[in-house]
Amino acid sequence: MHELDEGIRVCVKCPLHKSRTIAVPGEGPIPTDVFILGEAPGGKEDRLGRPFVGPSGVILAELLEAAGLTRNDVYITSCVKCRPPGNRTPHARELNTCQENWLDRQIPLADPKIIVLLGKVAISQLLGEEGSLRDLHGQIVERDGRLYLMTYHPAAAFRVPETKDSMKQDMLALRRLLVEA
Ligand code: URA
Repeated sequence: MHELDEGIRVCVKCPLHKSRTIAVPGEGPIPTDVFILGEAPGGKEDRLGRPFVGPSGVILAELLEAAGLTRNDVYITSCVKCRPPGNRTPHARELNTCQENWLDRQIPLADPKIIVLLGKVAISQLLGEEGSLRDLHGQIVERDGRLYLMTYHPAAAFRVPETKDSMKQDMLALRRLLVEA
């Protein structure tokens, strides 16, 4: 994976490079059992070049703990590697360009058994599912020999605190999968 990081840091394949401070390739062990996929770096991630080190990262750490994991046990990245201006949702062309160039190479290198999709953008991008998270969260699907677990983006807990309980339930499903895997 680390061989891709350098290319990601200097990537100019979509307009997001113009406003980024530091691109955020991702971090964690390679290969890995669990691959965590968010949406896009936020402000702190953009300044430090590391994924989920801001407020969402605090929630993510809590969720991983519910699954019996720490962030050192998993690979963590996002659908786009550069922060969108004003933290807007990444555009389809940005998502597709980043996926084709980087994410689609990161996943086979990391070779995870389970990919945890955090939020609507990650779910739609990798599975093409556009339904409501209220219905999708906690669901596990198999595609091309890998399991995908759908859950909320940790930032949802800031808007609706009860989603944290739902996410923790989803993490218990992850814990069970890891026992069986
Ligand atoms: N949200 C994401 O989706 N990714 C990050 O790295 C930080 C916040």
